[in-house]
Amino acid sequence: MPAEMFYDKDADLSLLKKKLIAILGYGSQGHAHAQNLRDSGCNVIVAELPGTANYDQAVKDGFEPVSAAGAVEQADVITILLPDEIQADVFRSEIRDNLSPGNVLVCSHGFNVHFNQFQIPEGVATVLVAPKGPGHLVRSEFVKGGGVPCLLALGPNADDRARKIGLAYAKGIGGTRAGVIETTFAEETETDLFGEQVVLCGGLAALIKAGYETLVEAGYQPEMAYFECMHEVKLIVDLFYQGGLNYMRYSVSNTAEYGDYTRGPRIVTDETKAEMKRILAEIRKGQFAREWILENKAGAPSFKALRRLEREHPIEEVGRQLRRLMTWIDAKEV
Ligand code: NDP
Ligand code: MG
Repeated sequence: MPAEMFYDKDADLSLLKKKLIAILGYGSQGHAHAQNLRDSGCNVIVAELPGTANYDQAVKDGFEPVSAAGAVEQADVITILLPDEIQADVFRSEIRDNLSPGNVLVCSHGFNVHFNQFQIPEGVATVLVAPKGPGHLVRSEFVKGGGVPCLLALGPNADDRARKIGLAYAKGIGGTRAGVIETTFAEETETDLFGEQVVLCGGLAALIKAGYETLVEAGYQPEMAYFECMHEVKLIVDLFYQGGLNYMRYSVSNTAEYGDYTRGPRIVTDETKAEMKRILAEIRKGQFAREWILENKAGAPSFKALRRLEREHPIEEVGRQLRRLMTWIDAKEV
């Protein structure tokens, strides 16, 4: 069933105008929500950590950042835009005891609410307003007069009043200019984790590495393997983005199109799909959440080790050299 969409006419910004909105965290999403809401005529305060680059950025953008505890105490609508893995700790230490009945808690990803990491007090309604794009795009589209599509979901204690505030919030950040889709915390959290693990980050990175390794192990030059298996991914993905699989197939050669139909299914096999189903089951049962939460509580030892090992993959060194030659790329180093 296609989702119902909501637009500017379905949302009433005046519901937010007499309220104070606290944006906790001035990072990717936070800087965009805070500035878009302020430009939409809302009262916004920002919470950031003194001495950090994002604190200075908030000051530069005309805010006077306070602590999370201080912001929550004053505000009616509180948006948690802190890194997901620290939200539960900050919720316990700075947020929970400063919430009061009637407050609306907004988040942009459902992980902590869906996996019960917040003990939300009675009378505090929880809604999800999640732009389907990175913060810089949420800001730049808004400035141009557009917006990034948003998801809306009702969480603990959310009633129709909270839903209307969520829609108004989506309007304030520009989301209803593009369209708002209603979902649930479970659907948003589970599909988000599944997408990043199986397709976007995990699946794609593993596919690229395996393709690269296969060519290099067969004696081809690493530079050739890099161009074929990594660099050109963007060209193909841009076609998907603009016109779906069909447009890619229309645009590439007939030879490439035939190879796609006949060889693709030998790479992503029934076994691959069965593994996808097991990964989805781990997400739904909270197994992945438990693993990631405990990993962070232990100081993230395997996360940090994996990060180091992956950084040393030969494709990274070859890529670094080649990207330097392509000045138009805007090459990044982390
Ligand atoms: P970022 O890491 O970019 O920003 C978080 C900010 O919070 C940082 O500036 C951080 O400071 C600050 N911070 C950390 N601790 C505190 C504290 N105790 N008090 C005040 N500020 C603090 O996060 P994102 O914007 O990427 O993510 C925020 C939320 O938005 C997450 O739930 C995420 O899932 C969701 N989301 C993100 C999207 C994205 O594209 N980035 C897309 C859709 C949703 P410092 O840098 O010094 O640590
Ligand atoms: Mg995501």
